[in-house]
Amino acid sequence: MKRKRVVIIGGGYSGVAVAAQLAARPRAPEITVVERSNRLGAGVAYSTAERAHLLNVRASNMSFSVDKPDDFSRWLKSKSGATPTAFASRRTYGEYAAQKFSQARGFFGRKIKTVRGEAVACRREDDGWIVELASGKLLNADAVVLAIGHRPPASLPAFESADIPLISAWDRAALRRIPRGDVLLLGAGLTMVDVAIALAAQRKSGAIYALSRRGLTPRPHLDPHIAPPQNEIELPTSLADAVSAFRAEVKRMAEQGQPWQFAMERMRHHTAAFWQRLPLEAQRRFLRHLRPWWDVHRHRMAPEIAAQVEALKASGRLRVLAGEIVNAERRGRAFVVQHRQRGSRVRHNIDIAAIVNCTGGNMDVTRTDDPLLLQMLSDGVVRPSPNGLGIELDPEARAIDGAGRPQEGVFVIGPLSQGAYWESTAVPDLRVWAAEIAKRLA
Ligand SMILES: Cc1cc2nc3c(=O)[nH]c(=O)nc-3n(C[C@H](O)[C@H](O)[C@H](O)COP(=O)(O)OP(=O)(O)OC[C@H]3O[C@@H](n4cnc5c(N)ncnc54)[C@H](O)[C@@H]3O)c2cc1C
Repeated sequence: MKRKRVVIIGGGYSGVAVAAQLAARPRAPEITVVERSNRLGAGVAYSTAERAHLLNVRASNMSFSVDKPDDFSRWLKSKSGATPTAFASRRTYGEYAAQKFSQARGFFGRKIKTVRGEAVACRREDDGWIVELASGKLLNADAVVLAIGHRPPASLPAFESADIPLISAWDRAALRRIPRGDVLLLGAGLTMVDVAIALAAQRKSGAIYALSRRGLTPRPHLDPHIAPPQNEIELPTSLADAVSAFRAEVKRMAEQGQPWQFAMERMRHHTAAFWQRLPLEAQRRFLRHLRPWWDVHRHRMAPEIAAQVEALKASGRLRVLAGEIVNAERRGRAFVVQHRQRGSRVRHNIDIAAIVNCTGGNMDVTRTDDPLLLQMLSDGVVRPSPNGLGIELDPEARAIDGAGRPQEGVFVIGPLSQGAYWESTAVPDLRVWAAEIAKRLA
């Protein structure tokens, strides 16, 4: 009998994790991973060259696969002696993920092929799929896994209309070329923290401004680590009731001297199910009003990083502003940015040498310029998630087509699945999805 063929588009952590899980299954199909960069397993998060960029999850929770929970802790200990509660560098994690993938390839031999190239189309043909690469090469598949990961940030109208170029937070070469002077970072989340730390190390002087609507910055992980109590917080089904119940629980815990971080851990296993039960209108309300608060408490900084951020703030090198941009214009080779502080009408001008977009990946696929996504959307292979985050999926990670039916042969993993499951973008969740998708594909 002819072996089935699965094409995985994207070879970041998600893509290689699905490939490794799938290859290990009995009667595994022929697997092809298509990756446009020259690195497998690293993607945006783990290809950073900065040693100072740390994971925001402890080593004990970063194993490559679900079936060996302490694999990364052991690997890290053998490399550096670090304990399971340490926050390793993201670059080190990239090396680990690449090694796990290459071990899987070595072990399962011909089952996994890799192709360097960019997928630009994925079309249905007869009973299967054809994936087209930018080079013109065509790959036939019985099923496709879309693992294309983080999207570049959205363009920002105030700067676009003034023809002001924004530097991407992930463009290391461009960050190094920033001339002397102050720098403005748009956004105040973990991406801003990455850039602020890299710029502060690379530049001897100049202020780094970070601007977001609320000026909220990520909170730190507990230091030292204390395991949270086992009793989980189960939330009522309505959003308003859940918020009140959660607040009441955090207050009760504070009265008992327990840190709020425990509360986040204690509801971690329920948030995906809670999200999926929320009506669309409540999901949108959450995204509009609560998301900034959620993000800074849920996606926390390693204590070492938090200490560096505090030191930068204390020395005045990092200045976090809450407010909005009112105007931006060029002044020679520099820029003048006018902003208004939150809750005030007063406008302030700042002279800036460069502006870095740290607003995070653009999750609204209706505003994408990615050729593959544009084609898949216009041919109805996939459709946007109704809450505006990524692609609409069924509960089994199958894409919903333009007519509203689950596509038998198109699975999605990674950031594009956030609208469907909410908690589906970090390794502890991705490895579960990788195993689940592999089970369905096999
Ligand atoms: C800066 C940052 C730090 C993070 N830190 C952590 C952390 O500490 N712990 C944690 O658990 N999670 C972390 N995350 C979450 C992260 O999303 C996941 O851990 C994981 O890396 C996501 O992997 P991915 O493969 O889904 O996406 P990506 O890493 O974005 O990989 C997608 C891959 O697809 C390729 N690709 C895209 N389009 C095409 C195409 N058309 N054709 C061919 N190839 C294509 C890209 O080149 C890329 O290699 C972090 C995320 C970011 C952005």
